[in-house]
Amino acid sequence: MGKALDLYDEQEFNACLQCAICTGSCPTARVIEGYNPREIILRYIMYGEQEEVLNSTMIWHCTTCHTCQERCPHSIRICGLLTHIMNLAAKRGNVPETLKSGIKLMIETGWSIQATQRSDRIREELGLNRLEKPNTDEIRRIFSEAGLDTILELE
Ligand code: SF4
Ligand code: SF4
Repeated sequence: MGKALDLYDEQEFNACLQCAICTGSCPTARVIEGYNPREIILRYIMYGEQEEVLNSTMIWHCTTCHTCQERCPHSIRICGLLTHIMNLAAKRGNVPETLKSGIKLMIETGWSIQATQRSDRIREELGLNRLEKPNTDEIRRIFSEAGLDTILELE
């Protein structure tokens, strides 16, 4: 039925009760209008709408918190499949600009959130050491070996 089922047992998703506990438990669904993990899985696995799902921006709202998976009465690996879908989407270039910027920042600085003069000052007031700049060569190499530089067209 598609690439997802190369990795996932179809029977696992056939066991879905359509109880919607996954969506009801999802913290993202509470704040992002229209975000519905149960619907994403249904469209991808059952309705054959893989192209539409892989090209959608909605999939990127998942924070991979695993709440849906932990609450599912059949322990269906929803978060695992959503992660797989995001990986496939990234390989075709569907990655939000905000995420690309975050990855670029990590490559350049080693931090996902950059230290500022203010954060340095607060650390000093709290008696904490000044943050050392991480080894960005290693970070760059890890990202490169994972193929992220090609996928995201990073320089
Ligand atoms: S919680 Fe599990 S069984 Fe219920 S709708 Fe979601 S995936 Fe299906
Ligand atoms: S893993 Fe994604 S879909 Fe599941 S509860 Fe967390 S944010 Fe929602």
